[in-house]
Amino acid sequence: MLKKVASLWFRVWLTAAVLLLALPGGGVAEEAHWGYTGAFGPSDWDKADPSFFMCKAGKNQTPINIVPRFATTLPPLVFSYGIKGDTVLNNGHTVQVLFPHGNTLTVDGISFELVQMHFHTPGENLYAGKAFPMEAHYVHADKAGNTAVLAVFFEEGESNADLAALWAVMPQTAGETKPLHQGFNPLALLPVGREYIYFNGSLTTPPCSEGVRWYVLKHTVTIGKEQVAAFLKCMGYPNNRPLQEVNARPVLR
Ligand SMILES: [Zn+2]
Repeated sequence: MLKKVASLWFRVWLTAAVLLLALPGGGVAEEAHWGYTGAFGPSDWDKADPSFFMCKAGKNQTPINIVPRFATTLPPLVFSYGIKGDTVLNNGHTVQVLFPHGNTLTVDGISFELVQMHFHTPGENLYAGKAFPMEAHYVHADKAGNTAVLAVFFEEGESNADLAALWAVMPQTAGETKPLHQGFNPLALLPVGREYIYFNGSLTTPPCSEGVRWYVLKHTVTIGKEQVAAFLKCMGYPNNRPLQEVNARPVLR
């Protein structure tokens, strides 16, 4: 039991430390001097801490309005997601599901391990100018510490049963963690079609580090209007970063 608790806290720590307050904020609210509203909102993240300078200076930032310009043959996304998430955390910036080791996403021979997934409402990226009520980010890291994010858009429609199970235990207070006794299947919220858009981007939260591989699924899943409202109520504010410039980046489809 002690070992299990220690392992859990190690992973909570790992999320905070390795992802450096990544996507959104690995740290709990007390550590995070940035937010989506008020002082140190998105336009002033760089002023919240010197290490957040890329939020202002970066040229390859996320989110963007995704307008695919280069048709190419992208390698398939190979999911080996067999291990359920066991913990859900409200870190004051989002609601995050934490995963034990063992889930991988392999692209073009590089294997990335799933660390956590979380939500933004409204969605952060646009697709050809279209906004979505919610976007999920599956955050992965490879052995060298590179980050890859798989993004899934939600369209308003039927209530999402897999999301309902998670929402039922959504921690309502910043810093609060809850166990997921039934586990959370990482494949549950993925659409059947796995075609994607690729671009080189950043974390969408401080420190806005670049060199992040973005895999954005073209197919969407649905979310009920009341489920969006429940998430917004839990957060207390929309947790989406404003759009960033595409600059010189190719966006591949
Ligand atoms: Zn995110």
